[in-house]
Amino acid sequence: MADTPTLACDVAIIGGGISGMIAALRSAQGGRSVLVFEKTSDDRYVCNSRLTAGIWHCGQMDIQTDPAALAERIMQVTGGNARTDLAQAVAKDGIRAVRFMQSVGIRFIKGPMDYQSFMLSPPTITPQGRQWEGRGGDVMLRTFEAELNKLGGKILRGHRAIELTKRDGRVCGFTGERAVGGGFSVNATSVVIADGGFQANPELTRGPVTSDPNGILQRNAATGMGDGLKMARQAGAAISDLRGFYGHVQSRNALQSDKLWPYTWLDFILAAGMIVGADGRRFADEGQGGVHVANAIAVRPDPLDTTVICDERIWAERGTFNILPPNPRLEQNGGTVLRADTLEHLADRAGLDRASLVAQVRAYNEAVRGGTLGSLSPARSTHKFEAFAIEKAPFYAFPAVAGVTYTMGGILVDADTHVQTPEGTSLPGLYAVGCATGGLEGGEHKGYVGGLVKSSVTGLRCAEAILAK
Ligand SMILES: Cc1cc2nc3c(=O)[nH]c(=O)nc-3n(C[C@H](O)[C@H](O)[C@H](O)COP(=O)(O)OP(=O)(O)OC[C@H]3O[C@@H](n4cnc5c(N)ncnc54)[C@H](O)[C@@H]3O)c2cc1C
Repeated sequence: MADTPTLACDVAIIGGGISGMIAALRSAQGGRSVLVFEKTSDDRYVCNSRLTAGIWHCGQMDIQTDPAALAERIMQVTGGNARTDLAQAVAKDGIRAVRFMQSVGIRFIKGPMDYQSFMLSPPTITPQGRQWEGRGGDVMLRTFEAELNKLGGKILRGHRAIELTKRDGRVCGFTGERAVGGGFSVNATSVVIADGGFQANPELTRGPVTSDPNGILQRNAATGMGDGLKMARQAGAAISDLRGFYGHVQSRNALQSDKLWPYTWLDFILAAGMIVGADGRRFADEGQGGVHVANAIAVRPDPLDTTVICDERIWAERGTFNILPPNPRLEQNGGTVLRADTLEHLADRAGLDRASLVAQVRAYNEAVRGGTLGSLSPARSTHKFEAFAIEKAPFYAFPAVAGVTYTMGGILVDADTHVQTPEGTSLPGLYAVGCATGGLEGGEHKGYVGGLVKSSVTGLRCAEAILAK
């Protein structure tokens, strides 16, 4: 029979991504004994934090902006969906979290956009495919671990947490399984769930995230299986609205080709042009941008039936916008770019309903010229992205897929990351951080605040709440 070791510490952290490691490191600095339980066995275990592009922002605003303006921005992008306390905490402490990281040796450079004052160095965003070794996220996690070790803390790899244990209403540890075989159990004063979300678990994503988990692209490390969500729920935690994910619209070829994963987005092309289903009809407000449209794709009855449409002007202008633009990168890396001199031929080449596509583009072009995009069905907004007429041959079609980075919903926490109960009280002994949490992002348009700002701030505030006890 395999032995079942029992481990004891002050702070037990489930997951070794950025949120868990910041919580670990800051707790250890405050004199607590800390163990991080990471289910993956590899030395450089791949998680979203190791793959990250590493750009800090808060709803695509600079984290150095006045906190009141940042909090307002969060409420605006989430349509008022965010918890006010969480929004204010993230708005206030994004810069503090970066300063904390700098204090332990993490290096940043400026990102390519104005609002990107802090980007992990060296940049991860330049290469194609899964090339993360020696880049920002990898360096960051290795730096955190080295610092944690100096303070007597440790990451235990190959340890997957499965079930929380409670005594007298207080969470006091958990049990789990080891990759080498056998179980383990943990006794801890504080337990922190930092498992990164549930995006890779088809049982959990079917419904709130997608109609068909096989029809979406996992543009993430595929480690977020929602173990933390399940454990917390079983222990009596409140769970936020689970709808919505942060992601992008990508070439459908990314499902097969690593060269197109996790970059080249079609976001800026569709936000200037149009996206249609196989019936040739629009189904989403393209003007809300890529995250909104990726979510709209994922919940379609068939999430693999969508095509982005544009013309030569959009391809030349918006197709070359942003880092790693689809023009010319998509074609160079084997992605499908369909061209035709007429919309009829384009519809035939892309397998779309010809009459319907032509009628949709005509109606859309008239609305662009007449300034009546709001009366289209669905309405097309222009406050975020300008709409361009689709009129200059050749015309282009790109088979699309929804790429999922992480889920926005999760375990409901307060601003100090105490896990909440449905009654609005805190579950004693239990904290949740990073993309395991809900309550900050989402809402009608699936408002994206920022995975790194959320994870770093909640990690830091969690440790501070633990140290204040
Ligand atoms: C390609 C890519 C680019 C990105 N770019 C940006 C960007 O530029 N800006 C930005 O703000 N965000 C970005 N993000 C998102 C950001 O990286 C994440 O939001 C953030 O890293 C999440 O950190 P986390 O600690 O919550 O989770 P993770 O980094 O996913 O870590 C969770 C860890 O928990 C472990 N785990 C899971 N279940 C268990 C269990 N039961 N027991 C033990 N361990 C478990 C996992 O193996 C994993 O190591 C990007 C993400 C990706 C994938």
